[in-house]
Amino acid sequence: MSEYRKNITAEAMEDEFVDRKPQYRKAFDAKNYLNVKLADGENKKELRIRLLPVDKDANSPFKTIHMHQMKVAPELSASGWKSYVCLNKTDDIDHDTYGTKCPFCEMNHDAYEKMKEWDEKYKEAKKADDDEEMSKCAVERDRWKAISLANKEQEVCIVRCIERGHEEDGPKFWKFNVRSDGKDPKSMIKELWRNRKQESIEEALEEYEVDKVDELPDDFEPVNILDLETGRDLKVIIERVFDKENKPTKKTSVSIVDYGKNRPVSRDEDEVEAWVNDEKVWSDVFVVKPYEYLSIILDGEVPFYDKENKTWRSKGRARDEETKKQIRDEKNAEDKIRSAKEKALEYEDDDDNEVEDLPD
Ligand SMILES: [Zn+2]
Repeated sequence: MSEYRKNITAEAMEDEFVDRKPQYRKAFDAKNYLNVKLADGENKKELRIRLLPVDKDANSPFKTIHMHQMKVAPELSASGWKSYVCLNKTDDIDHDTYGTKCPFCEMNHDAYEKMKEWDEKYKEAKKADDDEEMSKCAVERDRWKAISLANKEQEVCIVRCIERGHEEDGPKFWKFNVRSDGKDPKSMIKELWRNRKQESIEEALEEYEVDKVDELPDDFEPVNILDLETGRDLKVIIERVFDKENKPTKKTSVSIVDYGKNRPVSRDEDEVEAWVNDEKVWSDVFVVKPYEYLSIILDGEVPFYDKENKTWRSKGRARDEETKKQIRDEKNAEDKIRSAKEKALEYEDDDDNEVEDLPD
């Protein structure tokens, strides 16, 4: 063996012979997920967490991916909803294995084109003063618009954390939708971080009786509440959303505050090292599904892995093409429109974590 520090090693070459076929089986383990769900009859709960960098090579606590939230067959999810990683818009996946084609994005695009076509026809009918044709075109245009929206991807943020009281579980992942109105955990955490930083600067200006930040002592460092050593825990408050008649819904709202004194994520430095350098990454727990699998979901059916032919197939229920198309168009569209209308600081229950019919 040579003495060079950098070298082509036998280990690295051996590694080149390892079969890198997609591994679909990832063991489901409840410990990997921060459980923000409320049980039946439970209306509120509080969790205490400490954020970690989102993976061992990151300095940020946030990872942004893209997902499609779809209405699925009941046997795939108790809530009826499931989210799937977008193969087209998510950067941080193995595109050599999964490609860049995403059936939901394709449906989103095709439906958008159809919507534009019907809008053109609508305009023509308007010019011709043909009321009957106009209303027919409007219905089609709106239907395709709804289908396009139902298949649009959603920006999703993932964080990695330690749950207080369950330190023995090690790092857990939590994913949530990013909202354009900023009322999501990522925005709340950022806001909290900025407020605590600003407060510490204002306090220092008062203490040193100076007007500007650059007049503060050189060793002054504003507070970083997410620092692993000098930061703070966060309290995540999950509450059930009630409807206008004060009946409990399946939706929950989330709010976040900082909690307790500044302290290290753990007093045991080895434990901190182990947590931060844990090999598990987001895609180990929110498993990416291949194009064939997602196409079956898009058809409103249940996939299973055909070991003999090494491919994903639908679990029978041989519907004709027309019915399948109707299901994927309308079921998703209707539900998406409904949930879009009900938007507040709310999240549909979304079961990512269920065991499926996976290949060995
Ligand atoms: Zn997509």
